[in-house]
Amino acid sequence: MLVVMQSHATPAQISVVLQAIRDLKLTPHPLPGATRTAIGITGNVGAVDSRTLEVLPGVSELIRVTKPFKLASREMHEADTYVKINPLAGRASDGLGSPSLARPANSETVIGPGTLTMIAGPCSVETETMILRTAEFLMENGVRLMRAGAFKPRTSPYSFQGMGLEGLKILEKARQKTGIGIVTELMDTEHADAVEHSADIIQIGTRNMQNFSLLKRVSLTRKPVLLKRGMSATLEEWLMAAEYVMAGGNYNVILCERGIRSFSDHSRNTLDLSVIPPAKKLSHLPIMVDPSHGTGKRDYVPAMALASLAAGADGLLIEAHPDPDHAASDGAQSLSFEGFKKLLESLKRLAEPLGKRLN
Ligand code: PEP
Ligand code: MN
Repeated sequence: MLVVMQSHATPAQISVVLQAIRDLKLTPHPLPGATRTAIGITGNVGAVDSRTLEVLPGVSELIRVTKPFKLASREMHEADTYVKINPLAGRASDGLGSPSLARPANSETVIGPGTLTMIAGPCSVETETMILRTAEFLMENGVRLMRAGAFKPRTSPYSFQGMGLEGLKILEKARQKTGIGIVTELMDTEHADAVEHSADIIQIGTRNMQNFSLLKRVSLTRKPVLLKRGMSATLEEWLMAAEYVMAGGNYNVILCERGIRSFSDHSRNTLDLSVIPPAKKLSHLPIMVDPSHGTGKRDYVPAMALASLAAGADGLLIEAHPDPDHAASDGAQSLSFEGFKKLLESLKRLAEPLGKRLN
């Protein structure tokens, strides 16, 4: 259910409605808009008895939300969501020295329609040297968010599992030195505090998209969540996973398509670009695409990155490595710095006619 307030509703009238919803043992979610406030209601099993709410002063109308996902739906939140990241704001220097290439502390990255947000970097944190080199390379090329996993979900228990907490420290150092924002995966609730502290965006991987205790845990964090699509998840299941994060009070969710399982074996996964238009139609959340895991082969990444942009993606997550042939994980799909630079040039050229600007 969505309560739409009148455009001239006062803050006091809004408070009364919020309290009335709580009195019904339901959860109100105020959604301030450009012209008026709406209040989403969650927590009801059946239909909400609307009579107690529609008579309250300042209430314009009550709208029933038909989809099973509520806060993630356009029915409840018509305007596009923009997720804002400001990596240096509110952080102490942690004794790591002053940033050399740092952006101004107030410089924000805004993820959503009209922008092209690039998140790039190696699959895993391997050494401090390669992470610093990557962060400097990205910042010099105008890419302000770096990806790299410290905790790695690997198919084989004998494969490199990531550097863990030590890897997080390296990522923090890179942010402190260069001002780059950090995107890194959280695999389990045990490391939630550590990853929340180190990351600017918490990545939830494809294998954990329906790990509901993990989703509930990140719903309590204050960091935006990059929610990868489960490799066999429908759009509705994906949006229900986003709903878990939002239901707990974290509205900053970025969807990320990364390829699904199909009968095709010419690529690692089948990058489902056809999910972008319906995702945009049903949800207000920004959507990014990861053509690296989507294809599994670096030769195919540029074509699918450009196609993602044309299909309406708000950004891209790309694996790039200073020495891809010797990467500890996912080297085959990682671009070299030279390859990444070339792709970035093509993306900028395509972004212009699409009305998008590189963040
Ligand atoms: C990754 O981004 O390195 C990763 C493991 O992604 P996914 O969860 O999509 O496989
Ligand atoms: Mn990877």
